[in-house]
This record gives sequence, C-alpha cells and structure tokens, in this order.
Amino acid sequence: MNEPSTQAAAHNTTLKDSKPVITFDGLRKSYGELEVIKGITGEIFSGDVVSIIGPSGCGKSTFLRCMNRLEKVTGGKLDVLGIDVADHLMPTQQLRRLRTQVGMVFQGFNLFPHLSVLDNLTIAPRKVLLKSRQAAEDTAKHYLEKVGLGQKIHAFPDQLSGGQKQRVAIARSLCMNPLILLFDEPTSALDPELVGEVLTVMQQLAQEGMTMVVVTHEIQFAREVANKVIFLSNGYLEETGPAKEVLTSPKSDRLRTFLSRLK
Ligand code: ADP
Ligand code: MG
Repeated sequence: MNEPSTQAAAHNTTLKDSKPVITFDGLRKSYGELEVIKGITGEIFSGDVVSIIGPSGCGKSTFLRCMNRLEKVTGGKLDVLGIDVADHLMPTQQLRRLRTQVGMVFQGFNLFPHLSVLDNLTIAPRKVLLKSRQAAEDTAKHYLEKVGLGQKIHAFPDQLSGGQKQRVAIARSLCMNPLILLFDEPTSALDPELVGEVLTVMQQLAQEGMTMVVVTHEIQFAREVANKVIFLSNGYLEETGPAKEVLTSPKSDRLRTFLSRLK
C-alpha cells in the first residue's frame, strides 16, 4: 500500500488544508431522460472512509461508478486524483491511470471463474502494469496472506465461499496498488455469517489509511469504520457529515426515516 503511515495519519482527521482526492461539484448523471444524480457537491480526502447510504434506486451505484468512469458524467464537475473525469474526451492514458489507481470491488465479486485465485490476482498487474510473472505472484501472495487466504492460492473461485471470493476480490484490487478503493455493497450477496470476515478485512484496510468509498447497508460498519457518511435520496445529497454524528443524530426527516427502517 502507498505510504501507509502518512495515509493512516490522515485518516479520521480530514486535513482541511490538504487537497481532496475526489471533488464533485454540481455532479449530474442521466440515463437518457432519467436523471439519477441531480447536482451533488462534496469532497473526499486521502484516508477518508466514506459510506454512501440511501434507499434502493437513489443513485448510489451510479455515483460510485462515475468515480472510475464506468459511467459517463452528464453534468457538473468530477475530479478524481487530479483527473477530470467529467471530460468526455478524456485521453486513454488518463483513463488507464484512473482505472489503475481507483480499484473497485463489486457485490458479485466478478472473479474469472476459469482462472485460479493466483491467476485472477496476477492477470491485471501483468497485462496492465506490465509486471513480471514473479513480481506479480509475489505481490499476489502478499495480499492473499493479508486477507487470510494464503492457503487458497491454487483454488478456483467455485471452490470458495462467498466471503472468501470477496476477500480474493479485495486482494485482487490491492494487487494494482490503488490509491482509492470503491466498494459497491460488498457484503450484500453474502450469507449473514460470512459478512463479518469481509468487513474485518475492510476495517483493517481503513486502519492502514486506505481511502475508501463504500456503498453499504451495514450501518454498524458505517458507524464504526467510516469517518464520513453521504446520504443520497432520490438523486440529491440529502445529508452528509461525520459518520457518528450523522448516524446518531440525523438532521433530515428522510435520513431519520431511512435509518429507522433499517433497524
Ligand atoms: P442504487 O445503487 O442506489 O440502488 P442505481 O444507481 O443502481 O441505484 O440506480 C439509480 C437509478 O438509475 C435506478 O432508477 C436505476 O433503474 C437507474 N439505472 C441504473 N443503471 C442504469 C442504466 N445503465 N441504464 C438506465 N437506467 C439505469
Ligand atoms: Mg446499487
């Protein structure tokens, strides 16, 4: 991971004079006629762990997917690691840097079923970062150990539990040495007893200072691990602030109602 000690120092303190790693200003996204993100503004700093919460269909995944340009922004500004992500004419080189430096972990893991765990972890570092097989395998082993799956290196995805698959997916993201990790409901597809092992890995990353943006229904995770919450409602940024504050004493009626339904 990059400069863990520096990032760890920044975590939970949100250095106001440091530069944000993600800035969005009047951000909008439409699918044809349907406007899903309706002008949202905010900042995310290095070492922040941000939970994006909100009702189903309010635009959480869309917002997250805009950040690494899996979706094209249709209005306003979005800057990620100094890259103008709203630029429709973004040069390929910039897009490549964005995809390398901003990792994504999906609800459905998205592992290659025909590749071993090791090959799932080494394919992108070899093809995109042009690492040697040996270097890519060394990194893969390091991160597999980190997520507690060193012994599964030669397994195939269908030989793993959902929790193990998701931990492999996290290790795969880490192998690209990202500066930011995006998670879209990483535990929603898991049996309840497997949620904890994934959240533990995420908590560990947060403690090491990784900048993380996490769409999640796990309010306990949001409260304990995130330092910041963004509550989206119907495409608007309804409420944001320090996680404990926002989740303990919500100001807006919509957030209060949303939280009371989760309990
Ligand atoms: P959430 O993640 O909060 O549940 P999404 O961002 O997935 O919400 O979706 C927000 C809205 O955008 C929904 O109405 C959804 O149907 C719509 N939507 C999402 N992706 C697409 C797409 N590729 N094309 C058209 N509509 C979409
Ligand atoms: Mg979603």
